[in-house]
Amino acid sequence: MSHVHVDRKVLQAGAAYRNLLVSSTGLVPDEPTVVTTGCGIQVPYALTSVRPESVTCLACREHAAREHLAYADQVRRLGRMTGSVISADEADQAADRARDIARKFAN
Ligand SMILES: [Zn+2]
Repeated sequence: MSHVHVDRKVLQAGAAYRNLLVSSTGLVPDEPTVVTTGCGIQVPYALTSVRPESVTCLACREHAAREHLAYADQVRRLGRMTGSVISADEADQAADRARDIARKFAN
């Protein structure tokens, strides 16, 4: 059985990012046919997932956990910058969500 991987750019592969792109640009991004995975191979897009419960490749799970933790730190810092587009509260909520997802991938 083939493993299910994550897209290397796991944070940009999710529905939330796609919706943001659609609402801000009006463009619907094409789903790529082949993507580079978190473990460094190329697989059909259909063999990747952004849902922690669906990803079976261990290296990809670790990659996704790392990416979400790094994002959590980034967004937290962003919320504390003067003139930031998001408030510290919003940033903390986004960081908490990202850490939650990281935990699920790390399990
Ligand atoms: Zn993988």
